[in-house]
Amino acid sequence: MTDKRVLICYRVADLAEAPPASSIVAQCAACGAAVWMALSSPDADEIICMHCLPQSLSRDKAEGRPLEFEKPTDEQLKELRDYYNIK
Ligand SMILES: [Zn+2]
Repeated sequence: MTDKRVLICYRVADLAEAPPASSIVAQCAACGAAVWMALSSPDADEIICMHCLPQSLSRDKAEGRPLEFEKPTDEQLKELRDYYNIK
């Protein structure tokens, strides 16, 4: 088990306009893409964009963590958020 906290963010390029919550532009730890991170986001050890989420999960699985989805559905994303304690 790990207590690494991963924050999943939308890429700036994927959203037509800035999200409603006060956000800053951060960088995906995996691909370097610009992502929106809400100022109200919980502290995270790593910021991952939606595109890198599946790869990140594969890596986590290799480290002994259980969840992996190729293309997560909304329901699975919810599960992932719960798993990673993402609010
Ligand atoms: Zn990325």
